[in-house]
Amino acid sequence: MLSKSSKLATTVAQEFFLRERKCFSTAMTLKKKHSCKLLVVGGGSGGCSVAAKYASKFQKGDVIVIEPSEKHYYQPMFTLIGGGMKKLEDSCKPTKSVLPKNALWLKDYAVKFDPAKNQVITKDGDSVEYEFMVMAMGLQLNFDQVDGLVDALKTPGVCSNYSPAYVTKTYEELKKFKEGNAIFTFPNTPVKCAGAPQKIMYIAEHYFRKTGKRDKANIIYNTSLPVVFGVKKYAEALMKVCEQRNIKINMRHNLVKVLPDKKEAVFENLDSPGSHLTLNYSLLHVSPPMSSPKQLKESKELVDSAGFLDVSKETLQHKKYDNIFGIGDCTNLPTSKTGAAVASQLKVVRMNLDARMKNEKLPATYLGYTSCPLVTGYNSCILAEFDYNGQPLETFPLDQSKERLSMFMMKKYVMPHLYWSLMLRGYWEGPEVYRKLLHLGLC
Ligand SMILES: Cc1cc2nc3c(=O)[nH]c(=O)nc-3n(C[C@H](O)[C@H](O)[C@H](O)COP(=O)(O)OP(=O)(O)OC[C@H]3O[C@@H](n4cnc5c(N)ncnc54)[C@H](O)[C@@H]3O)c2cc1C
Repeated sequence: MLSKSSKLATTVAQEFFLRERKCFSTAMTLKKKHSCKLLVVGGGSGGCSVAAKYASKFQKGDVIVIEPSEKHYYQPMFTLIGGGMKKLEDSCKPTKSVLPKNALWLKDYAVKFDPAKNQVITKDGDSVEYEFMVMAMGLQLNFDQVDGLVDALKTPGVCSNYSPAYVTKTYEELKKFKEGNAIFTFPNTPVKCAGAPQKIMYIAEHYFRKTGKRDKANIIYNTSLPVVFGVKKYAEALMKVCEQRNIKINMRHNLVKVLPDKKEAVFENLDSPGSHLTLNYSLLHVSPPMSSPKQLKESKELVDSAGFLDVSKETLQHKKYDNIFGIGDCTNLPTSKTGAAVASQLKVVRMNLDARMKNEKLPATYLGYTSCPLVTGYNSCILAEFDYNGQPLETFPLDQSKERLSMFMMKKYVMPHLYWSLMLRGYWEGPEVYRKLLHLGLC
């Protein structure tokens, strides 16, 4: 005789089994073959913008977007959410609402690429044949590559602005912080928004000042890089900010282990392999190691030796397959990976893809424009803008390396509107026109 609870467990198990079998058979029977003129892989910042551009030009269904996520996040807002200046829901919209109505959305992962056959297979087993493809798969966050980090993120004191799963914890930790080391890290991999690991540090420092806790906080920035920022003009400005605010920087230190029981973080000294620095933390903000998404990395014909989509840095066309273009973080473009860079790349992709579709010479060249609003507190921001050569390419006719309230207001209030209303609809291709106007055509 089965007890009541065993009966319940059996029923749940049977239901689970039936559901699984149904899912399995559904997946087996629903394998579909699609074909389209333009396939866009990834429906984030780059994918949405490209899809919007072409869906409005083409017939319904000519554009297919493969994107697994139900939700679309405006990731640049995560910095402000971590500082308690915005809510997570302010940064999020349903993917359905941001993709163009005229495009077909396959809510799935692209898992296998066969560029010689112009074909992509999805996780559910659907196949998509395309004439042209734009790849916009972003970056993968690899929290599991730091020993103990995944578990540590569930414990007090450890947080990360990089994921919607943890970003709201950052502000909770700022509020809870009483005293001790507040450590901020930068990993030993390419990252998206290279300024984000330190923006939250300046916000935390300001928060501690506002709430009378600053005297009790040692603020430490442990970065794998040999500089605080890749562009000299802004690096000098940021070094001054750190000096004025008594922030200690340990260059070339990479987080390799977190021991939440002891509240210790272990860093490898990259200039002296094998030597480690162990620090106690009260607060540990982690920027995780990142890579291109697994499914892309495994497509050896499409990627370079580091696993990024191998495109021409001038035209954004794939080096081997000329009907494939890349945009955004998943590419090997040697510039800082940001949404601002994506907007400028959009213009180049649009012009060159249009030309390729007509078998004409590719007319547009990307100069590597990227931008990073380096928020330095609750009312100040340095707006870094630069090109492939690390040369400033500033939009406004003033010294943008100065901390300014105006730039902060732009980051907080103007940029989100620009993103949702213009960029994702394919109407924002970067500030080049405004830069030229404001500089009287001189740059
Ligand atoms: C904390 C933080 C702060 C930032 N601050 C700024 C800032 O101030 N300014 C700025 O300009 N940028 C900032 N960024 C960076 C900016 O968000 C990214 O550079 C930008 O979103 C890149 O666009 P993307 O289209 O390349 O990638 P994403 O927007 O990340 O989109 C990639 C998409 O690909 C999808 N995908 C992944 N794998 C697959 C697959 N196998 N099949 C199909 N789809 C797949 C993903 O689900 C995702 O939707 C910040 C980012 C973070 C995390």
